Amino acid sequence: MTNIVRSTCPYCGVGCGVEAHTTDSGSVEISGDKRHPANFGRLCVKGAALGETLGLEGRLLHPEINGERVEWNLALDETAARLQAIIDQFGPKAVAFYASGQLLTEDYYAANKLMKGFIGAGNIDTNSRLCMSSAVVGYKRAFGADFVPCSYEDLEQTDLVVLAGSNAAWAHPVLYQRLVQAKQQRPQMKVVVIDPRRTATCEIADLHLALRPGSDAALFVGLLNILSSSQVDNTFDGQTAALEIAANWTLEKTADFCQLDSVDVQTFWQWFAQANRAMTLYTMGINQSASGSDKCNAIINVHLASGKIGRPGCGPFSLTGQPNAMGGREVGGLANQLACHMSFDAADIARLGRFWGSERIAETPGLMAVELFEAVGRGEVKAVWIMGTNPLVSLPDSSRVAQALANCPLVIVSDVARETDTLRYATVKFPALAWGEKNGTVTNSERRISRQRAFLPAPGEARADWWMVAQIAQRLGYRQAFNWQHPQQIFSEHAALSGYQNNGTRAFDISVLANLSREQYDALEPVCWPIAAEEPSLFRSWRPDGKFQLVPVEPCLPQAVADHVYPLILNTGRIRDQWHTMTRTGRVPRLLQHITMPFLEIHPRDAIRYGVTNKGLVRVASRQGGMVARVLVSDNQRPGSVFVPMHWSQQFARRGLINALVAGVCDPHSGQPESKQTAVRIQRW
Ligand code: SF4
Repeated sequence: MTNIVRSTCPYCGVGCGVEAHTTDSGSVEISGDKRHPANFGRLCVKGAALGETLGLEGRLLHPEINGERVEWNLALDETAARLQAIIDQFGPKAVAFYASGQLLTEDYYAANKLMKGFIGAGNIDTNSRLCMSSAVVGYKRAFGADFVPCSYEDLEQTDLVVLAGSNAAWAHPVLYQRLVQAKQQRPQMKVVVIDPRRTATCEIADLHLALRPGSDAALFVGLLNILSSSQVDNTFDGQTAALEIAANWTLEKTADFCQLDSVDVQTFWQWFAQANRAMTLYTMGINQSASGSDKCNAIINVHLASGKIGRPGCGPFSLTGQPNAMGGREVGGLANQLACHMSFDAADIARLGRFWGSERIAETPGLMAVELFEAVGRGEVKAVWIMGTNPLVSLPDSSRVAQALANCPLVIVSDVARETDTLRYATVKFPALAWGEKNGTVTNSERRISRQRAFLPAPGEARADWWMVAQIAQRLGYRQAFNWQHPQQIFSEHAALSGYQNNGTRAFDISVLANLSREQYDALEPVCWPIAAEEPSLFRSWRPDGKFQLVPVEPCLPQAVADHVYPLILNTGRIRDQWHTMTRTGRVPRLLQHITMPFLEIHPRDAIRYGVTNKGLVRVASRQGGMVARVLVSDNQRPGSVFVPMHWSQQFARRGLINALVAGVCDPHSGQPESKQTAVRIQRW
């Protein structure tokens, strides 16, 4: 007999619905869920291979302390006692959580509640800081709230799609397939790709702007200047200053700054200005920059100024990288916000304190990802709980992260994998439930809350992350506030908080879901917030009313500049068939066949100049570190810059850790690292 369980893919922020077909013999096949509005049955190659990642080999199945297997009760008692001792001696700021866009909303909620609500410091941040925190700043500065004013169905209604810093064909494949289909059905819809590299996404581009790396903001500031003469018909806060700066960005200056043909720049501007409906989809190429927040606002500015927002087929659309980056934002998984998108202002702190029954709510933002691990390195943070992520591979300047963890008195890691680069430094290892075993909700790029449902039994002694947090919280003395038995209770609490003493101006209100029964929670269909709105693609309730802001943006170039010692600029990113640090996809032979080892893509002219040949090995080094990759000579690459994928860890490719090269330079507003820009040199290896 075959049993079918509907769930959500655990990889990218598209958030595709899947169906898990399980048989009595234990076999599992995964197919796309035709009823899920994110994908209508489509899956990319990673999602289609999910069934091949479900084996228990390589799993962490029992708690361990100092490398020794221990009983859960002992592990929890000992961990809570060590945490309490550190809090007593050094205060709550000596403790931190580092969470993940892989966690379910319920896991995230529990961790945030313990850290910010009861331990009493803001130190919970997440690997989502590395992927979309600049986009959050952009939305908050422009709209007054972290609100994504688009949905996927807008792609089927627009006249122009601008993809800025996004290789959607590889990083968000099902969304890209939807875009391809939309263009087939309406060939008049134009697609512009803004990316220094010619990527697979360019296959449907009517115009590819292969701009100078990091110069994106100028394209949009110059466009704002064009729009100001004809289309800016609203009065926004900041409008005068934004337009004054824009006035300097003439066609010639912009083309020169971006190192583009002025005819191409003019074409883009004309298409945008003349389109009735336009969308800009942006992701890591924009966000991962020392001025990423400003780049996001440069994009939002042109949509606000031209009225291409708040209507079907319009808007600035930040694509999230992970399955639950958005859910993490909702529950306060970023160190600079409280639960339910609340801020660290007195009213929100008091509101949260009343709801949680706590007088220990954190009063100031905590440490953001890069600075969090720097604080670990300085010995200021003495206990860090890393949940479902592998920061030793994904954070910049990874050798410093390794040093920091090696000297940290208490490193707690909850993970599904038995071996990761990070787990080598764990004092305490908690075995977590994996996809297919855990049960809860995630929120995708278009704010769609979907259920991840369990269809496999919990193996060994693996437990849900929320359960571990609740057990520790109870041992720290917060028994009543963490007395959950099922994720539905956590979701209900989260939903109730979103509407608790809400003054009505907040976009995020899902309180209509607060009273779901266990059965209703189990059966919950995918739903976009704000749930009260008639159409999720619009933010009608938020029409320009004086709260919207044109943020003045002065375009600038990246902090990393090439020089005679490090003459090339390194760009990093995803490949089609791997996910993050490969702990899951790296186990699937057919996914490994696509690209078998780290490569360095380089323009033919640079290959000759630096004496490297196609398929030869090359050592690439920055001021931070080095790695070895296989050369891929390609004129898809701009001269002067090279590209290396981000996935390989020491576990999968010795000498293959790209983030050992990347500096921890961050956007001052978002704390997002400039992972797209590192000065490097290469030599044949
Ligand atoms: Fe999963 Fe993303 Fe592929 Fe959809 S597009 S199947 S969410 S990896």
